[in-house]
Amino acid sequence: MPDVDTIRAFLDDADVEFAAAVDGFARAELAIRAEPASDDAARIEAREILAILGRGGWLAPIPTRNLRRIALAREAIAAASPLADAVYALQALGSTPIVLAGAGGDAARWVEEAVAGRAMGGFAMTEHEAGSDVASMATTATRDRSDWVLDGEKAFISNAGIADFYTVFAQTEAGKGSKGIACFVVPADAPGLTFAGAQVLSAPHPLGRIRFDGCRVPAEACLAGPGDGFKLGLATLDLLRATVGAAACGMAARALEEATRHALERRQFGEPLAGFQLVREKLARMATELAAARLLVFRAAWVKDRGAERVTLESAMAKSYATEAAQRIVDDAVQILGGRGVLADHPVDRLYRSVRALRIYEGTTEIQRLVIAGQLLARAGEARDRP
Ligand SMILES: Cc1cc2nc3c(=O)[nH]c(=O)nc-3n(C[C@H](O)[C@H](O)[C@H](O)COP(=O)(O)OP(=O)(O)OC[C@H]3O[C@@H](n4cnc5c(N)ncnc54)[C@H](O)[C@@H]3O)c2cc1C
Repeated sequence: MPDVDTIRAFLDDADVEFAAAVDGFARAELAIRAEPASDDAARIEAREILAILGRGGWLAPIPTRNLRRIALAREAIAAASPLADAVYALQALGSTPIVLAGAGGDAARWVEEAVAGRAMGGFAMTEHEAGSDVASMATTATRDRSDWVLDGEKAFISNAGIADFYTVFAQTEAGKGSKGIACFVVPADAPGLTFAGAQVLSAPHPLGRIRFDGCRVPAEACLAGPGDGFKLGLATLDLLRATVGAAACGMAARALEEATRHALERRQFGEPLAGFQLVREKLARMATELAAARLLVFRAAWVKDRGAERVTLESAMAKSYATEAAQRIVDDAVQILGGRGVLADHPVDRLYRSVRALRIYEGTTEIQRLVIAGQLLARAGEARDRP
């Protein structure tokens, strides 16, 4: 049974039941799966995991934008398998722009297929020269009668090469910055769209580059036109960012579980590690930081589920705090496990390799802190100027 007491104030009774169910599923069906030994194997494994998630109905909270359910699912799934969490995350990132745009037709069908686990999504925003400064992207979208023609290259794209569709952001007018960016849904087999190569991480996570060479899509593929596409991308990230924090909490919770068990079982100097005050101090700090992280994550999700238009501040706090805390917690778990914690087949070593990227993707910690300070200062300015 997962710890729901800490976050109980933010959950309905049905959420508590969902938490237990998804935790049971993740432990029984995901935790038992071996970590793929290569990038090729990870790509096959990701597709198999997607089918399992879809069959079980675990992706259903994505189109209804039930953030607390998505967060609970990501916590449980990330604790069992960071790769499965990445699969979950990308189904949400790939589908949410379509859902938020209220698109019908082929675009809506991609969402149905994604939720059923039959189609894999991708979210193509980043480029080699446009990371945090995403508005400087160079991929272009040119109008040709009613069609759009895409040209350029996206990098660091999760599911590149194995996705069935991508939501793609592109510049419609040079020099316009964010005001020129539009968003499209593009099937992976669209003529002119190619997989340009894998970018291999130390933890299994299909990632890579995709290229657009005169890739023509019909007008209906445009989810949001110039300027609105950028806003749609930001709204998607704003909505889902707190759930990255949830995944971090799941990884941290698993690390704490493994470290606590080890501290009770492992004996040195004639007593269990748990008897040493320096180890106890670590466990206390890990548990406290995890609780604080979960409170921030579920606060953000709860505020959104109650109908808030934006949760920019709440989700930036949740994402930055939870991912930074999770990194410290997983690192402490490795320390408590000693040499066993750096053996490549140990679950804590897998968490150690997996948790690091969370501080980078969907907006780095530094960018989140700029966002938090910006919101804080804007609110202070408004209060000062109020008559
Ligand atoms: C595992 C993984 C999966 C990813 N999946 C996707 C995906 O599916 N789709 C997608 O579009 N992208 C994806 N990305 C890309 C990700 O969103 C970017 O890596 C991220 O936005 C940071 O961009 P960058 O790597 O170019 O770093 P940079 O922007 O070059 O930043 C480098 C460093 O400089 C700091 N920095 C930058 N600007 C400032 C500033 N103004 N003030 C202070 N510090 C600053 C950053 O915080 C960071 O520490 C993924 C990345 C990873 C690692």
